[in-house]
Amino acid sequence: MTSAVEQLLEVKTRIAAAEREAKRGPDAVTLVAVSKTFSAGEIQPVLEAGQRIFGENRVQEAQGKWPALREAFPDLELHLIGSLQSNKTKEAVALFDVIETVDREKIAAELAKEMAKQGRSLKLYVEVNTGSEPQKAGIEPREAVAFVKRCREVHGLAIEGLMCIPPADENPGPHFALLEKIAREAGVEKLSMGMSGDYETAIAFGATSVRVGTAIFGGRAYQSQK
Ligand SMILES: *Cc1c(COP(=O)(O)O)cnc(C)c1O
Repeated sequence: MTSAVEQLLEVKTRIAAAEREAKRGPDAVTLVAVSKTFSAGEIQPVLEAGQRIFGENRVQEAQGKWPALREAFPDLELHLIGSLQSNKTKEAVALFDVIETVDREKIAAELAKEMAKQGRSLKLYVEVNTGSEPQKAGIEPREAVAFVKRCREVHGLAIEGLMCIPPADENPGPHFALLEKIAREAGVEKLSMGMSGDYETAIAFGATSVRVGTAIFGGRAYQSQK
């Protein structure tokens, strides 16, 4: 079996190749290693290999394993990539450095309040439901530009990027292109798009970060909720 560290190196090599292919600079793309469902013991070697940016999709699961890892690796950066429930905002602001799933007014308001209270300023992304899938989180594409504006003007949030998860059964390219177009209209710099199956495509469409789980850590024993 290939180890997570070997697979990490393989993913990084492929990212570098995709950057060259797309005529983008080296380090144009940040790798977010998605460690949901994996234990601190499984994550540790990947940290030791130099990876510092990780994604988790559940606040409670992340609380169970990251505080101890952060003591050993204080320079790590933790991204929340799963839906944020408003009763978890306080915990999320205390634990995460980046929240990629701002998708409604209520969460924007509570994040603003909680960051002020805790004196923490997280980097924030708005999640866009590019496929308008009813079961999926994220703001509707046609509402996204106005929502980013409201986050900034009404809630004083510095929205840094957009994030999307294209429908599983569709060609992701048009979804990545749509996210890039919305980002340009909204005046947002960063694009979090691309997962294990399509990160090279996402890089061709301008991704500034890719969220890769399975291709590094292997298959997940259970399906973590979206
Ligand atoms: C699980 C997850 C990923 C990683 O998916 P893989 O296919 O395992 O690479 C990326 N983004 C989000 C939002 C996820 O929930």
